[in-house]
Amino acid sequence: MACAAASPLAAPRVHLIGVSKGVAVDAIETAIFAGVSAFGENRVQEAAAKWSAIRGRHPHVGLHMVGALQTSKARHALQLFDCLHSLDRPRLAEALANELPPLSTRFSCFIQVNTGDEPQKSGIALRQADAFIDECLKVWKLPVIGLMCVPPANQPPAPHFALLRQIARTHGLNNLSMGMSGDYAEAIRMGATHVRIGTALFGTRPV
Ligand SMILES: *Cc1c(COP(=O)(O)O)cnc(C)c1O
Repeated sequence: MACAAASPLAAPRVHLIGVSKGVAVDAIETAIFAGVSAFGENRVQEAAAKWSAIRGRHPHVGLHMVGALQTSKARHALQLFDCLHSLDRPRLAEALANELPPLSTRFSCFIQVNTGDEPQKSGIALRQADAFIDECLKVWKLPVIGLMCVPPANQPPAPHFALLRQIARTHGLNNLSMGMSGDYAEAIRMGATHVRIGTALFGTRPV
């Protein structure tokens, strides 16, 4: 991508996650035929309903959970998804650790950090982030591959992306899930390895 070439922080390869929440199966399959190889959903129920058929026809396609996950749905989520982007609290970490099949290599996760410390938003609070990341890695031994954030809607996203990158580096984590339809170019310039794009791919979601 042109924006990546212009920045020294840009990752050599950026994974596109097509966020297909609210998108019908036929439109998802059109995107698969166009080359999108990983998708994101934000509800376990919706993902289960749409993806059993799609998975059967396209077993190579990755399915990621990008929305908040209830602890009670951890087991179902592990059966459905290859990757969770929203690990954000100790009880969920414990539930995942208990449900994760031994020696499973399929599943990986990102810890979501609430970089704007917004009360209504998911993500571990900034002041708890370092301890929580350590706990996920050392106590629960979860397959954490990086950090994720959703910057506050009313602020420039770049400082949030930079902060996420800095926290990740402190913990030796190499992947950054950041950037959506409105700010993915900035996120890629700041080192995103995974961008989560919905409306820019599929159009405006019905409300
Ligand atoms: C919906 C959603 C996206 C995609 O947002 P767009 O603005 O439609 O690209 C990305 N990440 C998360 C966590 C989402 O819920």
